[in-house]
Amino acid sequence: MILAFTAERLLGRRPEPSDAEHYCRLFLDPEVTRWLDPPPSPPSDAQAARDSLERDLDHWERHGFGPAILVDGRDGAFLGRGGLNWTTVAGEFAVELPWALLPARWGEGLATEAARAALAWARDLELSEVMSLALIDNHASQRVMQKAGLRREGEIEHDGLPHVRYRLRFPRPSTSTVPFWQDRPYAPRPALNGDVRCEVCVIGGGIGGVATAHHLAERGIHSILLEAATVAGGASGRNGGFLIAGAAPMYHETSRLWGALRARRVHQATLDGQAALVRLAEEVRAAGALRITGLLRLAMDEEEASDVLAHHAALARDGFPGEIVEASELPDAVRRPGRRALLTPHDGAMHPVELVRSIARDLERRGVRILESTPAVAPLAVQRDHVVVATPRGRVVADRVVVALDSQLAGLIPAASAIRPRRLNACATAPALRGLLPMPVYARHGTEYVQQLPDGRVVLGGFSDLDGDASWTAEAVASEPVQGRLDRYLREELGVRAPVTHRWAGIVGYAEDPLPRCGPVPGTEERVFGLGGYNGTGNVQAFVAARIVSELLTTGESVDADLYAPVDA
Ligand SMILES: Cc1cc2nc3c(=O)[nH]c(=O)nc-3n(C[C@H](O)[C@H](O)[C@H](O)COP(=O)(O)OP(=O)(O)OC[C@H]3O[C@@H](n4cnc5c(N)ncnc54)[C@H](O)[C@@H]3O)c2cc1C
Repeated sequence: MILAFTAERLLGRRPEPSDAEHYCRLFLDPEVTRWLDPPPSPPSDAQAARDSLERDLDHWERHGFGPAILVDGRDGAFLGRGGLNWTTVAGEFAVELPWALLPARWGEGLATEAARAALAWARDLELSEVMSLALIDNHASQRVMQKAGLRREGEIEHDGLPHVRYRLRFPRPSTSTVPFWQDRPYAPRPALNGDVRCEVCVIGGGIGGVATAHHLAERGIHSILLEAATVAGGASGRNGGFLIAGAAPMYHETSRLWGALRARRVHQATLDGQAALVRLAEEVRAAGALRITGLLRLAMDEEEASDVLAHHAALARDGFPGEIVEASELPDAVRRPGRRALLTPHDGAMHPVELVRSIARDLERRGVRILESTPAVAPLAVQRDHVVVATPRGRVVADRVVVALDSQLAGLIPAASAIRPRRLNACATAPALRGLLPMPVYARHGTEYVQQLPDGRVVLGGFSDLDGDASWTAEAVASEPVQGRLDRYLREELGVRAPVTHRWAGIVGYAEDPLPRCGPVPGTEERVFGLGGYNGTGNVQAFVAARIVSELLTTGESVDADLYAPVDA
């Protein structure tokens, strides 16, 4: 039995296929149908009652909650149906409070008790509001709504009959500036205190740093990793959670920018990197942090729709996966006439903090030492046979150093000055109607991106074009105009009414030539390596760059040594 809620004298549970008999008993009772299916509705029959049960079972499958079987708390006797139900009333999609009790139990106050319990359940589910309807002359039901705390909104026509609509709005949860992904308990590791010696010191605890330490560990080197704040506290824990292959520009654009050969190699390397990340997530017991759902690149207008065709043609020409989805096949939430999308089946979504922190924990099990609250202080002191990394309370003396800082790369590697810090914004909602977006969607040439998590929350980011010059900052403070636009996108474009619970910004490294940087730092005799500058698309690209740097560092060569740009480009 799956319990939904309990009250003083009753409890609500998830319906089961064996409840058909209960549904028939309830929905064939003339006293009940008098209010639920009044004429001109056809009289209810056993098939209609069983269909109603099917719908309720399906509701639970889709949303994880739904209409509930009410039973007597003392003897388990069947009482009726209550709980919560997504429905459409006068064109509005909302959660309603259904209830129907066996007439033998009317007059005991059980309906009010069931309604109050369902409302408490709705609050726990973080729903933003609940609605209820009653026929205009069903005064008993209206009294139940009033006693449960719903407010009368007025009369409407529903199923051709006059009804009264009641509603209860829950107070909006206060909005956190902690990124949704990071909003979980975390105990940081201690800082470096004293001097240590090691073969390789990795600086930066984002995906770039932990991936470098991972690739090095695979090659037998157990590095020391320094993180200024917390692992996955930077962009790697503040992003949109898209697990996307390819570079920042679309594939056909990269051919134009970098030539067909390099574009092909970059794309193939990121496809391989993506598959390797999926395997690694399993190895580090974080398989649930990645979901290969496919990804939609959505065209918002005609111009973009033809660009999507060009994008698809370039992928197809080079034998890469991708298929066109025409407007009629798009998910309801984004389906509009004239739209078109490109589906890349290998892409998907990720919980970036869970992934990066799981890799970090695995590294420790393998002998890598991770120190948090330990910023490396510039400049790195490069000597003939070692590098000294200064930190506030100790030094690391390393044979070699890898700097994996993306937006802050130039702080420790001045030659990487082409990479500038830029803020990007995102937000997350409380759980909304599930099944809105079966896969992540990015639109308007990649400037807006949205995904729905399995529990119904919507995570949305983008509109950095609205941030203008203010976006060129290293301060991770959310931009009001961008956050306002994200709100409008949620409400107007997607029809999501769930409140925004988290708003945040993150800082990424941008360069005019959007080719990531990676490799040895000139003038350091291959003692210092750097990687970064993913132009906002680093979840997979940092993993690839980390592999290349690890190969160069351990063997002096990599078939992909020239895949990305040199650090000082
Ligand atoms: C809102 C937003 C949405 C995004 N969406 C996506 C997306 O959906 N898909 C995608 O692929 N990419 C996305 N990105 C980009 C992606 O997050 C980055 O490209 C990626 O996380 C870069 O990883 P990194 O490890 O190089 O850098 P970071 O994650 O920034 O890690 C660098 C780390 O170094 C630490 N550090 C800084 N200075 C020092 C120092 N001196 N000493 C020691 N440590 C230091 C920082 O504290 C930080 O933890 C997005 C970014 C943002 C902000």
